[in-house]
Amino acid sequence: MELLDGKAISKQLREELKEEVEQMVAEGHRPPHLAVILVGSNPASETYVNAKVKACKDVGYESSLLHFPPEISQEILLNTIDELNENEDLDGFIVQLPLPSHIDDRTVIERVLPGKDVDGFHPINVGRMALGLDAFVSATPGGIVELIKRYEIETEGKHCVVLGRSNIVGGPMSILMRRNTYPGNCTVTIAHSRTKNIKEVCASADILIAAIGKPEFVTADMVKEGAVVIDVGINRMDDATRERGYRLVGDVAFAEVSPKCSYITPVPGGVGPMTIAYLLNNTMIAARKRK
Ligand code: NAP
Repeated sequence: MELLDGKAISKQLREELKEEVEQMVAEGHRPPHLAVILVGSNPASETYVNAKVKACKDVGYESSLLHFPPEISQEILLNTIDELNENEDLDGFIVQLPLPSHIDDRTVIERVLPGKDVDGFHPINVGRMALGLDAFVSATPGGIVELIKRYEIETEGKHCVVLGRSNIVGGPMSILMRRNTYPGNCTVTIAHSRTKNIKEVCASADILIAAIGKPEFVTADMVKEGAVVIDVGINRMDDATRERGYRLVGDVAFAEVSPKCSYITPVPGGVGPMTIAYLLNNTMIAARKRK
């Protein structure tokens, strides 16, 4: 079994981006600039946003954090997005989800200019990605593809089971794995909460990508010997032995599943760091276009 070390690979990717920023600046261009909109004070969202801002700083990007109170109206939020769309000092921006219930996610996502949508959530980017055209690929699936690529994992002709069908992870992941390119060319099955015989479906996977948000759902009996297992889940489990009172676990029961795998991502240190690095990558793609 080999660990898919997202921490190490994301560091590699961030170092490459940092070098490119230095070159950009040496050539007289400004560094890439990412803005992040945060509404309210959801602790997990605040942690993610702070990590994204810090990651920008570490690679030499400019970043702006626009933090609004939870009661902000949808109209003000949409006006802010319009301003960011027109701001030429900005290469891309994201709106951290989830948003408060009085704001419609769809309306917000569709207001972001596709060329600045470095989260890759806009229907135009999702559609272009599905067609295999130039597009921003959302950060978690994009980061997973990058991890597979850098470990040179064979994907052609493999049976890939994607557990979860959300618009931000499972859905795009399934499209990427069936593309006619590398990584891709898999035969893909998408499993979700209505799937029957989910154990058997998972156990038939050569590549299993778990993204359901259920702690340690995937057990050893659900995994084929020699499978590649990618665990996207980030779940908090109470743990009185930890200072913060919890620990993070994935959707895969790592201790029992890992001995059966050819490759597996740990949680933490697998997909999580790749997601942030890939957001930086998308921001660089946007910045290259204005050079
Ligand atoms: P989500 O929007 O809640 O979607 C969950 C998906 O899992 C849905 O398609 C749901 O099926 C399916 N599902 C739920 N329970 C199931 C069950 N018992 N059996 C089979 N399928 C089940 O979640 P998400 O945003 O995709 O996130 C999934 C996990 O990934 C979460 O733990 C999240 O924290 C984590 N995540 C991690 C990163 C990262 O950077 N590492 C990024 C994003 C998300 P239905 O469609 O039928 O409801």
